Amino acid sequence: MTGLWHDHAVPEFLQVGEEVLPLVIKRHRSAKRICLRYHPGDHAVSLTLPRHTRVVEGMNFLTQKSEWLITTLMEMPSKKRIKPGVVIPLCGERVRVKHDAQQHTAFMLKRGVLTIAGDRQEFTKRMTEALRKIARQEIAARAEKMAKKTGRRIHRITVRDTRSRWGSCSSTGNLSFSWRLIFAPEEVMQYVVAHEVAHLRYMNHSDKFWSLVAYLCPDYEAAKAWLKLHGKELYRFNA
Ligand SMILES: [Zn+2]
Repeated sequence: MTGLWHDHAVPEFLQVGEEVLPLVIKRHRSAKRICLRYHPGDHAVSLTLPRHTRVVEGMNFLTQKSEWLITTLMEMPSKKRIKPGVVIPLCGERVRVKHDAQQHTAFMLKRGVLTIAGDRQEFTKRMTEALRKIARQEIAARAEKMAKKTGRRIHRITVRDTRSRWGSCSSTGNLSFSWRLIFAPEEVMQYVVAHEVAHLRYMNHSDKFWSLVAYLCPDYEAAKAWLKLHGKELYRFNA
């Protein structure tokens, strides 16, 4: 959080360290002073302003309190619930989650917004379904492309909520992946897909296998290291 804010430039989101949080600015008639709060449930920040306080003063207050916000976020439990209003990483992009009961399609991903249809009570179920479908699509698109390069054919692709491994490959050409890979950076998803596709050709971890992985995903070593270090974080997100 840097810089000064002008009244006409109020961000909807707040960058705190590595994180981007929704920011809600409220006015409260009886508030005596500016009040800044972090809401762990929504993973959002609210700024309450007294009646006659200008937004710019509120934003400057926010800047002064950035140290406190960073500490608060670092101390919060690592779970993150996916609810309307939150921002989640999706295939390396930051996507804001929305609910729209009137929407005709079950879900829509457009211009950085993922909108889920249906009753609010069904949001959790529908959100999980949407994420799985998006994961399957994204993973399949990458896998098919890579399989072509290796001259092998994929029999079937499934996505699951696996805990022990990010992907697997059977001798009959069935590939299976954790749908949580959609929360990972693009190169990481590329690497896991490349790894399983390479197994279509080599059912081992020989030098030939790793050369094929490198051919499909030149940056695989960094991605592999990322997974080792941050893989657990992909379990933070739950609808
Ligand atoms: Zn392997």
